[in-house]
Amino acid sequence: MKTEEKRAGFLEENKNPAEISNEEWKKVLPKEVYHIARQKGTERPGTGKFYQHNEVGTYYCAVCGNPLFRSNGKFNSSCGWPSFFEPISKDSLIYLEDNSFGMKRTEVECGKCHSHLGHVFEDGPAPTGLRYCINSVVLGFDKANEEK
Ligand code: FE
Repeated sequence: MKTEEKRAGFLEENKNPAEISNEEWKKVLPKEVYHIARQKGTERPGTGKFYQHNEVGTYYCAVCGNPLFRSNGKFNSSCGWPSFFEPISKDSLIYLEDNSFGMKRTEVECGKCHSHLGHVFEDGPAPTGLRYCINSVVLGFDKANEEK
């Protein structure tokens, strides 16, 4: 069975993904997803599949499938990670104070499964002035179907 199928079955059994332990996540997530989502890792800048990705559609959490950002909320920043100026809704994300590595930052987690996604900075473009700096590894993408 493919990992993705295992993960889907796992989520069906467990109604609330926020209550799944890291031990359990480790069994079903690909290594690189687990490292970033559950251990607050960071992908190397410029290497992510969605860094320079400009298709029209929706970005979702690769761990639980929660829709997070739309392509019209994405912008091209030179920071090395996919950058967005706004999430789909306020509840899409959770915001946490992060004082690791001697920096004062705001960490962003998935609002549904509480997986680490990246950070948000206050140097983004209008209208929000925010830059959500998100790891490609923890994102999936649904291309918009124009016929719908
Ligand atoms: Fe999630």
